[in-house]
Amino acid sequence: MAPLPVLMFHVLETNSQSAISFPPALFERGLAELARRGYRAMALTEVADVLRQRKPFPQRSLSVTFDDNHRSVYEIAFPVLQRHDMLDGTTVFLTVGSAPGPRQPDQTLPPLPGARRDQPTFSWRQVREMHAAGVRFGAHTATHPDLTRLPAEQVEQEMARSRETIEDFLGAPATCFAYPYGRHDHQAVQLARKHFDCACSDRLGLVRGGKAGSDPYRLERVDAYYLRHDWSIGLLWSMWLAPYLQARNVPRQLRRRVRARLAIRQRGCNKPG
Ligand SMILES: [Zn+2]
Repeated sequence: MAPLPVLMFHVLETNSQSAISFPPALFERGLAELARRGYRAMALTEVADVLRQRKPFPQRSLSVTFDDNHRSVYEIAFPVLQRHDMLDGTTVFLTVGSAPGPRQPDQTLPPLPGARRDQPTFSWRQVREMHAAGVRFGAHTATHPDLTRLPAEQVEQEMARSRETIEDFLGAPATCFAYPYGRHDHQAVQLARKHFDCACSDRLGLVRGGKAGSDPYRLERVDAYYLRHDWSIGLLWSMWLAPYLQARNVPRQLRRRVRARLAIRQRGCNKPG
């Protein structure tokens, strides 16, 4: 049973050392090769359905996702995905901003904290154009907070507001969610269950179908950061993808554990008295 990679991209741009950037030429080459090898992109809603039915994924399937509103999704990825017939297997997660009321087509979506000034965002009109061509849109909160640091009421507000804003604008359901930074705890997962059909986490790995399948509310993704060379994108159509991701996961988990321990120790030091 083949597990399914859910690819996670942010910005497509050349000559950048940023961890969220991916080279456009490699994006084009990678997708062309996947299409040539008969890979089909599945929408995340479809992935969630397969998981609920505990069925295996069809061979040669993958899903494509983009986070954080970067305009390169519209300018660069959109035509490439269209060329390779992968639009309806693509989900773009939108962070909609905190302003109340309906969105105007010419408004651009908010930039995310930490985005560079030369990384513009797409407009709501461009969202509509991509949606009409088949791209799916999912919710990624109103303001992109770390949900594990918020009380339940605010987590729910962030989720509901992003879902409603997208649905009001597009007149179509937005049933998938991505936790900002992938961070989630029990509370966030419970609330995602209430508002959505599935949710993407920060777990690096492949989504497993079948009887012991992945949790639809803690979906694994493959950060494109790990695929940004010709040799590593080639892993997508090889048998080495799963072991490669597992190997990358070890230092990642270790780093996190060390960071968590240091945080605890620092908090301990700051205790008064
Ligand atoms: Zn994000």
